[in-house]
Amino acid sequence: MSEATERYAAALFGAAQGDAGAVRAAADALMADTQRWNVLVSDATTDAEKKELLAGAPQLDGQDALKAFLQLLLAEGHLNALPEILPEFSRLALNAQGGMECVMTCARQPDEATQEAVRKAACKLRGADNVVLQIKIDPSLLGGFVLDIDGVTYDRSVKGRLDRLARGIENNNSDDTLDQLAAQMKEALSGSAGDTMATETGRVLEIGDGIANVSGLRHAVYGERVEFENGTAGLILDLRRKRTGVVLLGSAEGLTEGSLVRRTGRPADVPVGEALIGRTVNALGQPIDGLGPIDCTETRPIEHEASGVVSREPVTQPMQTGILAIDAMVPIGRGQRELIIGDRQTGKTSIATDAILNQKGQDMICIYVAIGQKASTVARLRETLKKHGAMEYSIIVSAPAAEGASMQYIAPYAGAAMGEYFMSKGKDVLIVYDDLSKHAVAYRTLSLLLRRSPGREAYPGDVFYLHSRLLERACRLTKEYGGGSMTALPIVETQAGDVSAYIPTNVISITDGQIYLESGLFFSGQRPAVNVGLSVSRVGGAAQTRAIKKTAGTLRIDLARYRELEVFTQFSSDLDAETRQALDHGKRMMALLRQPLCSPMSVARQAVILYIATNGLLNDVPVEKSAAFAKDFADLLEREQADLMQEINETGALSGTATEQIRTTLQSYKEQVSATWKA
Ligand code: ATP
Ligand code: MG
Repeated sequence: MSEATERYAAALFGAAQGDAGAVRAAADALMADTQRWNVLVSDATTDAEKKELLAGAPQLDGQDALKAFLQLLLAEGHLNALPEILPEFSRLALNAQGGMECVMTCARQPDEATQEAVRKAACKLRGADNVVLQIKIDPSLLGGFVLDIDGVTYDRSVKGRLDRLARGIENNNSDDTLDQLAAQMKEALSGSAGDTMATETGRVLEIGDGIANVSGLRHAVYGERVEFENGTAGLILDLRRKRTGVVLLGSAEGLTEGSLVRRTGRPADVPVGEALIGRTVNALGQPIDGLGPIDCTETRPIEHEASGVVSREPVTQPMQTGILAIDAMVPIGRGQRELIIGDRQTGKTSIATDAILNQKGQDMICIYVAIGQKASTVARLRETLKKHGAMEYSIIVSAPAAEGASMQYIAPYAGAAMGEYFMSKGKDVLIVYDDLSKHAVAYRTLSLLLRRSPGREAYPGDVFYLHSRLLERACRLTKEYGGGSMTALPIVETQAGDVSAYIPTNVISITDGQIYLESGLFFSGQRPAVNVGLSVSRVGGAAQTRAIKKTAGTLRIDLARYRELEVFTQFSSDLDAETRQALDHGKRMMALLRQPLCSPMSVARQAVILYIATNGLLNDVPVEKSAAFAKDFADLLEREQADLMQEINETGALSGTATEQIRTTLQSYKEQVSATWKA
């Protein structure tokens, strides 16, 4: 009840009317009367009896304010908190007189002269009239002393110095004179110079579940990195009047109440640079792939303001995923944010992986951020990327489920910081956040542990901002700002297809469109299970490759018509020729959109398949054979007319002569294979 303690102390101080010394003495005398006090705080005594005991206490004679205060405490059932309230009360009284309390922890009892010198130094520092020095003995300090003045800890102990030496923070071990010490303390207390910020330290009040509440970091800022006594880093996520909430980014081993926490004056950051490419790192950018240290010279803050309006450019270049259903109907542009949404096990990760595989030779850096996944899943993904040569341009940032909420919380921001580095260098970046539902859950865990009030679905109020500030960092920069881009593919998992849950609706509204994967389609064998009706891309149309845009024109409508017809004609046996043809056409299209894993299609291949399908050139091929036929035909073109395919790939356009060539080749190919259809 620390905040309540403060309120009670303030109330008593207000009532004491400046006669604090007498009030404290009376209260101490009452508690010293152990017989009476024990009865007063015992559960066995009734309230009426306690009241009577208080009224009759000789120690309280003439102390009406204290008497009234104790009656109030009794009525509210907090009488046993008096021993906690009194020191706080005395502190208030001392402060009011321009004095302050200073705790001096020493290895041995200091002599009077030292105490007097420290008291004087502290008085001079704060312009205080008197400083009350409290001495604590802690032999583990080995020598020297630690001073806690008004929330700032100043460590002059041998142990502290050894620790700093061990971590390379300090390299001179000459003993400071008292004046130097005073000057340093003054800087630390005023907290002005950037360098002295680093010396501001606080103490752990409580610690557990990856969260520490710390006192004394008076000038700490939100998002700052702090360091604990045991070397573990922390991230400040909660600022309150008397305490600071810190999220631990490592082990809490060896940390107890009272452990020292040091400010660094720097925001939490991660190493960035070319050296990261091909590596698997944790959320702090440290390697976890056993391939040795990563040699990065730069760092970037994990939280960074997104580019402004002036530095942005419209999305105009395509980001080919190599998946026909997506490139044809939900095209994605470089700098766009496209959500991949669907139930569990509907192929969400597979779409992102295929998109990464397809970036080979496209001068694109890919970053895959795994949040709350099984470590084995991430390892498997890494193997897949490696097998297809995609690790050469990829980075994996992994915060597996086992790592705890804090790492999962910062992982996407760390990934975005790495991406921004490349973007600022003019490169194109593709970043996958797999997945943001788990990210939101990790943030909810942290928020609840930090005692923020829960809102809808127990998420904290700022959960929208959590994702909007992350996804806003994806953009396409203008030439003056380097001309790079960052395309984001966030993934969100739904429960039983419910897109109206809190996190899905949030992320849908932040992104520029979504690819909706449906478990019904997935289980019926239509993979990738893209639901064409519910998937949209709000900006990608402008960026779509011309050849594909031209050939995919009617695909969406044809498929919508097919879906409707399919429902209406389910039970009827005799259909007119036109309906049957529309149904067959739809079936062919659906079959063509099926695509196995890890086999992204080039632009030319997509254009050829779409061209022959949407122009009715497959109508004379039996429905069940059409997909295989189109695939074989594309293989044939790639084998025998490589020039044509290369031209389409390079120009991204389908010229008149090219279509002519496709038609004639198709004609002769049909004649060759049509004999096998009859069989
Ligand atoms: P989770 O919810 O567990 O993250 P997910 O939605 O990310 O799942 P994936 O892991 O990508 O789904 O895929 C689930 C399974 O479906 C995998 O075993 C994968 O091999 C298979 N799969 C996905 N896409 C295809 C496809 N196009 N063709 C064949 N199999 C596929
Ligand atoms: Mg997945």
